[in-house]
Amino acid sequence: MKILVANLGSTSFKYRLFEMAEGEERLLGKGGSERVTDFGEAISGALRQMEDDGMVASRDQIEAVGFKTVLGRGLSGCVEAGDEVLEALDGFAEVAPAHNPAYAAGIRQFRDLLPGARRVALFETAFYQWMPEAATRYAVPGEWHEAGIRRYGFHGASHKFIAERSAELLGRDDVAAAVRRLYQDGPAGIDDPLRVISCHLGGSSSVTGIRNGVAVGTSMGFSPQSGLPQNNRVGDLDSGAIPYARKALGIGMEDIERQLTRESGLLGLSGVSNDLRDVKEAADGGNRQAALSLEVLVHEARRWASSFLFPLGGLEAFVFTAGIGENNPWLRAAVCAGLAEFGILIDPERNEACRGEEAEIGSADSRVKVLVIPANEELVLAREVFRKVTNLN
Ligand code: AMP
Repeated sequence: MKILVANLGSTSFKYRLFEMAEGEERLLGKGGSERVTDFGEAISGALRQMEDDGMVASRDQIEAVGFKTVLGRGLSGCVEAGDEVLEALDGFAEVAPAHNPAYAAGIRQFRDLLPGARRVALFETAFYQWMPEAATRYAVPGEWHEAGIRRYGFHGASHKFIAERSAELLGRDDVAAAVRRLYQDGPAGIDDPLRVISCHLGGSSSVTGIRNGVAVGTSMGFSPQSGLPQNNRVGDLDSGAIPYARKALGIGMEDIERQLTRESGLLGLSGVSNDLRDVKEAADGGNRQAALSLEVLVHEARRWASSFLFPLGGLEAFVFTAGIGENNPWLRAAVCAGLAEFGILIDPERNEACRGEEAEIGSADSRVKVLVIPANEELVLAREVFRKVTNLN
């Protein structure tokens, strides 16, 4: 079955095309465009390109399209992308402004351009459906909670991939199988614990605690504007700072929103760039502000990772993934420094040698397995869409 995974940003459309069957997963090709002003044009162009490149003989061979939707009002999971999904995306458009309107537009375009294909949305919040309720609540008045203001969690596809792959690498096929079936069957109720802390460190970062394939907590909250400092988004911020900044800096809500969502994070802290490579280069060149911003990122990654140790009650695997986590040995070493008491010990040589590929970087006497696992969110989408469509048939 040919499954197209659509990745939509406010001005970008990227895709990957997979051939999926029981026991077969194959990437047939990928492509897309940046600086998109018209999603209809971008998607039509991509479909033409797939035919011209021979990825498909005809676009009608695409049986399903998967969308990595971010946040829906009152809706999560892996669901058919129909009117209910469009309404849920519209309902929270201002909470995820870079993504929700783009996905709503993309789903509508595919409905028109590929009417014969099934459309499936996998919400980034789906992996967090079984978090303990206490881990989802903010201490706000009831009306706020009823308006949908709670912790949701994001990067669900990435952390789910880590849950499955880390279980495979630790020889826990029972947990890996349970993760595969999670969205169809719910948590499997396995006793023998496999406890994982997954650090997705990239342009956007989050840390998730996972027990037997099920998330127990996440650094991301109501919006992707929370948790660790992001490339240009603020991450956690005391709610008291906003009314104060309004008065002290004499700025309005629009400026505040722009500054916190586009001019903060690594960019705001360093004053250099939203890209870790540039910030590291500046820090190495003696820029104190850049060095401090890296220290903040490490501090926040450690703070959030440690916050899951108590809820998990122990740890078998500590995992780094995404652009920053996969490619920066110095950062992995800094995050894991001084954790021998907790059973986490990095092997400096293995760590240094690992740049972007799957590897075990813990030392031989590290009680906890320390792993680098390249992110593979599109594959998770393709797998979930395949399962959903196969179950529907
Ligand atoms: P992602 O959002 O997962 O694509 O991650 C983007 C972040 O990863 C950026 O801050 C990059 O600086 C960082 N990154 C990507 N590739 C590398 C690399 N080869 N070396 C160091 N950092 C990298």
